Amino acid sequence: MLNFDHSLTRELDGFFTPTEAAAAPAPRMVVWNTALAGSLGLPDAGQEQWARWLSGTEAVPGSQPVALAYAGHQFGHFNPQMGDGRALLLGELIAPGGARFDLQFKGSGPTPYSRNGDGKSTLSAALREYLMSEAMAALGVPSTRSLAVVATGEGVWREEPHPAAVLSRIAASHLRVGTFEWAAAHHGRAAVERLVDYALNRHFPKRLNARNRPLALLEAVCEAQAALVAKWMNLGFVHGVMNTDNVTISGETIDYGPCAFLDGYSAAQVFSSIDKGGRYAFGQQPLVCRWNLYKLASALIEAIVAVDEADNEAARLLLDGFGARYEAHWVQGLRPKLGLTSAEDGDLALGQALFAAIEGQQADFSRLFRALAASLGEGYDAVGAELTDPAALKVWWTHWQARLAREPLDPADRAARMDAVNPLYVPRNHLTDAALRAAEAGDMAPFDKLLAVVSQPFTPRAGMEAYSHGAPSGTPGHVTYCGT
Ligand code: AMP
Ligand code: MG
Repeated sequence: MLNFDHSLTRELDGFFTPTEAAAAPAPRMVVWNTALAGSLGLPDAGQEQWARWLSGTEAVPGSQPVALAYAGHQFGHFNPQMGDGRALLLGELIAPGGARFDLQFKGSGPTPYSRNGDGKSTLSAALREYLMSEAMAALGVPSTRSLAVVATGEGVWREEPHPAAVLSRIAASHLRVGTFEWAAAHHGRAAVERLVDYALNRHFPKRLNARNRPLALLEAVCEAQAALVAKWMNLGFVHGVMNTDNVTISGETIDYGPCAFLDGYSAAQVFSSIDKGGRYAFGQQPLVCRWNLYKLASALIEAIVAVDEADNEAARLLLDGFGARYEAHWVQGLRPKLGLTSAEDGDLALGQALFAAIEGQQADFSRLFRALAASLGEGYDAVGAELTDPAALKVWWTHWQARLAREPLDPADRAARMDAVNPLYVPRNHLTDAALRAAEAGDMAPFDKLLAVVSQPFTPRAGMEAYSHGAPSGTPGHVTYCGT
């Protein structure tokens, strides 16, 4: 009935520990992703049955739960022994079209990798990940998905008691940069080579024929991560904890802990309570991504040079070229946001000048791009009205108009194209915080409504105006907490 396969446990012996989920005293389905369940071809067993399965209370038929081992650089420091401390991989679901997806529990109790943690998750953290990941998917960003949140009926202690829940997560896989670091640190080249072949087969099968497979994997991950982080930057998304264990090989966004969308734009914006030094600030993300890819390269290098000593240099060139690769993705994503249909060399500088000019302007990042579209018909004031200093974008706007004049397009048509890629609705921090507070108090209505709104981010809907506005002035700075 559930179409499971277990290629990872079959092919990567030694990379995991079989572990059972803890049973929940009173499982209750809180959110269920009907559309995702449908696309995965999951059986309609009823919400109560699914709640027993997806809380760990009854074994999911066909599953083989394991906790995965991995290592990682956390805030720059190597931790050789991390792993799924509050998560379990149940197996791979084969969707009706043949695509393969990991099904993972998050918050299902202790594992051999829990160290001092309780292996549990709060309802609020599970709902936060559900909301953010589904919003990202709706925005067209590669992301893990959320199938369900089941309240367990227990409490969990995070400075004070909170209701606990299990999140069921769907991912292209849970292979991370940290998985390679773990293999290299503990088991050496042969284990890394096995992992390379498994990862290529799963995510980049065309590259299995490459002359140097570990190098081909490194190139593929550089490309996937450059494309991913460029999307984050164009949407104002701050991941918040870009440790190497939170960087996927597939190129999906993973581990929605202290993440948030920008309110007002600032390159230095940090939301995470633990990121005191601003290592993972908004504007740092492309640089940190490259740093993380160096760590992947370090884990792969022995395997790369074992194929061909000269490929040491090829790996170095790949990483040196990351900045240019990232910028190419960024500007390619920015052009349609600015209504550009053609490419000119100056577009990168035009985009960079926009971001420099809005620094500190307190303009809601997402609204600003809608205002740029509106200004095509209404003139500059539509933009100025969004800014602390209404004249701050005047010069830039004139340059933009000159650039647009070189592309013949009806302004209304151009505005419509811009609105199709610039979201009106993202999970703004004040809305998310309010929805999660209500959910913890037992009222799911604000969460359900916010989820419905951000699941169609580009289309204005009557009665949803409040969801398209920035935080009311006076809203305290948003803070998120890791591992909550
Ligand atoms: P994360 O912040 O989710 O990327 O987690 C970092 C590491 O801490 C991972 O190895 C997690 O499995 C582990 N971890 C986080 N929260 C818990 C918890 N409540 N119990 C056990 N391990 C945890
Ligand atoms: Mg993590």
